[in-house]
Amino acid sequence: MDTAQQVRLLLSSPQKIVITTHQRPDGDAMGSSLGLLHFLKKENHEVSFISPTDYPDFLKWMPGNETVIIFENQVAKSTQLIEQATVIFCLDFNKIQRLDELGKLIEASAAKKILIDHHLDADDFVTYEFCDVKASSTCELVYLFIMQMEGQSFIDSKIATCLYAGILTDTDRFRVPTTSPAVHRIVAELMEHEIDHSAVYQELYETFSENRLRFFGYAIREKLEVLRDLRLAVIALEREDINRFNLQFGDTEGLVNYPLWIKDVNVSALITLKQKEVKLSLRSKGNFSVEKICREHFNGGGHRNASGGTSPLSVRETRDKLISIFARLKSDLNSA
Ligand code: 5GP
Ligand code: MN
Repeated sequence: MDTAQQVRLLLSSPQKIVITTHQRPDGDAMGSSLGLLHFLKKENHEVSFISPTDYPDFLKWMPGNETVIIFENQVAKSTQLIEQATVIFCLDFNKIQRLDELGKLIEASAAKKILIDHHLDADDFVTYEFCDVKASSTCELVYLFIMQMEGQSFIDSKIATCLYAGILTDTDRFRVPTTSPAVHRIVAELMEHEIDHSAVYQELYETFSENRLRFFGYAIREKLEVLRDLRLAVIALEREDINRFNLQFGDTEGLVNYPLWIKDVNVSALITLKQKEVKLSLRSKGNFSVEKICREHFNGGGHRNASGGTSPLSVRETRDKLISIFARLKSDLNSA
């Protein structure tokens, strides 16, 4: 039996299912988890979705949002659900340590574990994998998973809306190179199910506070460094910048994409402070792999054109380290 057949068999009787995703979930993490939740509920399973942490307000409109359990706020309930689970779906991540404490509970669980993901460099912690590093998004893979489970007729407006939102965000509005003809075909199919795609766009991209937009303006005007010879742009935000705009969770989301608008910039980096650490977000154009940089130097990973990592150094030192990595790459290239 192949993997899909084994999982079809597993899901042919009602299961107690937990779905989980990475910390600080993005549009793809939320869309794929909630899309899968609606599908599995229709298949008569008992399903919960546990997010390790809270997530930005611009993602709090998806169908099923009211059912999301946030682990850091509801540890006892989450622990009980994981202990009782017979099946755990892990979506949009492939390194269990990205889930901290929640990851330890999942590792200890005897449930069958199913990974649906499109990140590079997967750890081996699951029973079944539905992974494809070439996929645009985990939502694309959840759609294909539903097809493999012969669930096409279950797709409805709620499932379609969630999956569409994740594909839209992870392809950065159908821009990044992973946006294949298959992605457009899937989107066309999803749009047959009464999605209000303009409303989805508005929820995701047109719900800024005035303060957040002014902060973007400030960051681009005052904080952006363009290192033309390295084809690198860096925005490094210090505590005083965050305090000045009273930045809330999710307010920096998307900022890293803007410096790529500059013709000669190939890589854009955002360095900022999260609760416990310095966080990097890297984006690139074309073939340049920011995944390699994040994996080798910043204990992170992701995709070729969009990756993240962390740093034990200060914001300033992290910026200096990043620039020196690019300077070294350039001199290696010149001497090659
Ligand atoms: P972002 O820059 O938006 O936080 O993340 C971009 C991509 O890199 C996402 O696919 C995300 O899952 C991945 N990523 C972000 N931070 C980390 C990290 O610390 N470790 C790993 N392995 N991947 C990360
Ligand atoms: Mn994703």
